[in-house]
Amino acid sequence: MIKRFFLLSLFISTLRVGAQEKDSVTIKTFFNEALTNSVAYRNLEQLISTVGGRLSGSPEAAKAVEWAKDAMKKAGADSVWLQEVWVPHWVRGEKEQATIINGSTKKDIPVCALGMSIATPPEGITAELIEVKNFDELKSLGEEKIKGKIVFYNHPFDQTFINTFEAYGEAGKYRWAGPSEAARYGAVASIVRSMSIDMDDFPHTGSMGYNDSLPKIPAAAISTNAAELLSSHLKRNPHVKFFLKQSCQTLDSMLSYNVIGEIKGSTHPEEIIVAGGHLDSWETGKGATDDGTGVVQSIEVLRLFKVAGIKPDRTIRAIAFMNEENGLKGGKKYAEVAERKNENHIALVESDAGGFTPHGFGLNMTPEKREKILQWKNLFLPYGLWNWDSDGDGADISPLTKKGVPGIGLVVDSQRYFNLHHAASDTFDKVSRRELELGAASMAALIYLISAHGL
Ligand SMILES: [Zn+2]
Repeated sequence: MIKRFFLLSLFISTLRVGAQEKDSVTIKTFFNEALTNSVAYRNLEQLISTVGGRLSGSPEAAKAVEWAKDAMKKAGADSVWLQEVWVPHWVRGEKEQATIINGSTKKDIPVCALGMSIATPPEGITAELIEVKNFDELKSLGEEKIKGKIVFYNHPFDQTFINTFEAYGEAGKYRWAGPSEAARYGAVASIVRSMSIDMDDFPHTGSMGYNDSLPKIPAAAISTNAAELLSSHLKRNPHVKFFLKQSCQTLDSMLSYNVIGEIKGSTHPEEIIVAGGHLDSWETGKGATDDGTGVVQSIEVLRLFKVAGIKPDRTIRAIAFMNEENGLKGGKKYAEVAERKNENHIALVESDAGGFTPHGFGLNMTPEKREKILQWKNLFLPYGLWNWDSDGDGADISPLTKKGVPGIGLVVDSQRYFNLHHAASDTFDKVSRRELELGAASMAALIYLISAHGL
């Protein structure tokens, strides 16, 4: 009996080794192809040079939709379609102006409106400032000190976090919720130190959201260097004034699209695996690392399957989501349609962290499914993917992961991302061809394993 059991388990483990060997050969094929013949880098160059920055509702975003549709067809998708999405249409207007006024000395500083902010009056706003590090400080100052002033959130990134997304998570709330919190105490405008890890002269934009029960005030970001300068002025003279002028506005919603390319599964076509990134970007820069990289990597996943001659067992979809930056309408619409059609998504993989050297995958799923994926970890170690500990996935896929679909995020080296994030510095030259290709192959490899073995 014991002997029979031993032989049986030997047989099973031989099968497993055999399967792993086949898997490791397929994965090597993906990496070889991606590193020698990838189209991802060329696609990104084309997207950035012909379209550039592409905020939802803009003519550039409409052009990007056509571009993505074409790129997915060229990658070899069985079918490509557009999914209608109504998106907010916020426009920046004229170039924003900000000036530090210290007595007779005036100094213009780099500034940009935060996404979805209202404008200042046409003549701008001039007022004294109150500098705070956090919401506790704001609360302790109260209406008496804040009323009629401009609140200046000066919360630097915590440099001690190795994963810079943690520093962003901590500082980001002052950008998103700061304006309404300032308005709670009677502030007339809100400015925030840019969400940048380094000292530079780029204002970094990004979305903010108004609390509907509080007055709406204009909100802007100033560069990290300008934040230091302003803070030093305020230390010497608390009555320094600040001038802010911006003419941004929210127009009527626009019809836009998610772009979807599919390779039908051969044995379980009803089980769907998604590879996605977001097509829209801030228009302050070119949206190269956020998230042109994720879009071209997702398209490359389809191409790698085609070129390797692998007909996946389960259906694979590449998705270029619209409107991640200022509304998440694309992700929400995709989830809504999936639910209405009763589609069975078994995994959603997103790349939206800059397209740098891949280090692993964040796994947002049940412990059982996580265990299953971790059995494949050894297959990825030769490619440098060692980090499987986080549960970070992606914003576009979150409307479905919240309903229990397993979410997976490509984890990359995060050290350079927040120098570029939502700023004019997010340009094509910041992307490494090789790092981009490694990420695309990593996504294809994991998606292949899920398509072959289920999840
Ligand atoms: Zn992004």
